Amino acid sequence: MGANAWLSLGSNQGDRLNNLREAIQRLRTPQVEVVRCASVYETEPVGYDTPQPFYLNTVVQVRTALEPLALLEHVMAVEQAGGRVRTHYGNPRTIDIDIVLYEGVQMQSERLTLPHPRMHERAFVLVPLLEIAPDLTLPDGTPIRDLLEQPVVQAQKLWKLNHADLSL
Ligand code: ADP
Ligand code: MG
Repeated sequence: MGANAWLSLGSNQGDRLNNLREAIQRLRTPQVEVVRCASVYETEPVGYDTPQPFYLNTVVQVRTALEPLALLEHVMAVEQAGGRVRTHYGNPRTIDIDIVLYEGVQMQSERLTLPHPRMHERAFVLVPLLEIAPDLTLPDGTPIRDLLEQPVVQAQKLWKLNHADLSL
């Protein structure tokens, strides 16, 4: 079925692990098959001016018949079902789902940019992504693993949770 895409999921409010689990269940539809889940990582919030609760993050690979914009609609509906309230930037959220990569697609529009414009600098995306797709490259051929070596990425703290299996 369709194309491979990689989604980043994060939660820093409420029962964070349960929020990730429920979101993954809701992602599954006849048109969206979740084929792989990375480990869960606890991560220090990055890119905020004010203190934030720590996140739990993971990455999942889906195979989907949905085109990129339809997939975005779907993940936004899953965020809504997970109780996400869009207030101002930097507020804690029950669930955030970003499309990191969609196989073979490079695009820039008001609603959707692919690959995700900030994936290159986010350890909480790159580390779980490499766990499930070690040989993945950007559309321009850059190996994802090369991005991890940047000092700004290396400086970010994250901890792998060893007993948080998302497939349960
Ligand atoms: P962020 O994820 O950057 O913290 P939001 O989840 O509120 O913030 O997303 C803001 C907007 O980013 C969304 O309304 C969506 O239209 C847009 N967007 C652009 N590219 C992407 C992408 N690759 N994945 C998810 N959202 C994206
Ligand atoms: Mg988002």
